[in-house]
Amino acid sequence: AKDTKNGVVAYLPTLQTEASSRLVLLGDLRRALDATDQLSLHYQPKVRLGSGELCGVEALMRWRHPARGPIAPGEFIPVAENTGLINRLTRYVLHQALSQVRAWLDAGLEIPVAVNLSPRCLLDASLVDQVAVMLAEHEVPATLLRLEVTESAVMANPALATSTLHELHALGIQLSIDDYGTGYSSMVYLKQLPVDELKVDRAFVMHMDTDRDDAMLVRGAIELGHNLGMTVVAEGVEGAAHVAALRDLGCDIAQGYHYARPMPGADLTEWIRSQDL
Ligand code: C2E
Ligand code: CA
Ligand code: CA
Ligand code: CA
Repeated sequence: AKDTKNGVVAYLPTLQTEASSRLVLLGDLRRALDATDQLSLHYQPKVRLGSGELCGVEALMRWRHPARGPIAPGEFIPVAENTGLINRLTRYVLHQALSQVRAWLDAGLEIPVAVNLSPRCLLDASLVDQVAVMLAEHEVPATLLRLEVTESAVMANPALATSTLHELHALGIQLSIDDYGTGYSSMVYLKQLPVDELKVDRAFVMHMDTDRDDAMLVRGAIELGHNLGMTVVAEGVEGAAHVAALRDLGCDIAQGYHYARPMPGADLTEWIRSQDL
């Protein structure tokens, strides 16, 4: 511990602090799952670019920590993903989302919901049966559930992930490739997967109106998706310039702050009525 020249001594405490704060976060997250008032879902509309009609919503997790206040999913999801806790969180999200879809159905609204699946969930042997049971429990048709996965989730174990996706698809569930453009992409797998929707990552969409490279990437993703018979969604659509550019490129669906921020289910019901969709 004498050798402080190369920074080893100064560096270790930082690592320990990070590790222990991750542990604290994990413990808090476990407790949040048992509490009733900490975790919730927000829903963000997906809008058809041609007609402006609502074509579904994405469910996004929200956590209000009793001491720290709101913690972004970008902070707590990656921590949960390193442990089995993500499987419990995903079951929580599926239950909440399906009971919301049921409530919308009871109110005369048929709104497909998309739920994010972490890579680890695709390797969970019990996932398919659990999803089937939950759909039955909530009396929601499988066609109203969509699951979003990233390409890297598939690449982690292509054989297992592909067979899980085929089983989910066989139940009637719709599948999307999320964050397209951010990871290693393989046409070979993309072609083989029973996926009908490609979501172009917001990192490219956000600057497509000012950055030629990003605009080219979005154009390429739309062409690729269409060539594979998929519907293409642009994420992170923040302005009218994006909407115009995406329409020109023939993009099918848009999602972003330009239309609406993620919001509680009850607010979304009101949003729909106010939009007269
Ligand atoms: P994602 O799946 O790519 O979700 C879209 C993210 O973009 C959301 O962030 C949403 O609020 C944000 N967003 C939507 N429109 C705009 C826009 O116009 N501009 C900007 N700047 N952002 C926009 P959020 O809710 O913070 O979630 C972040 C990520 O956390 C998600 O990215 C997803 O990877 C993960 N996540 C959230 N909820 C869940 C969940 O229930 N399960 C899993 N496995 N992951 C989740
Ligand atoms: Ca997503
Ligand atoms: Ca995404
Ligand atoms: Ca660039």
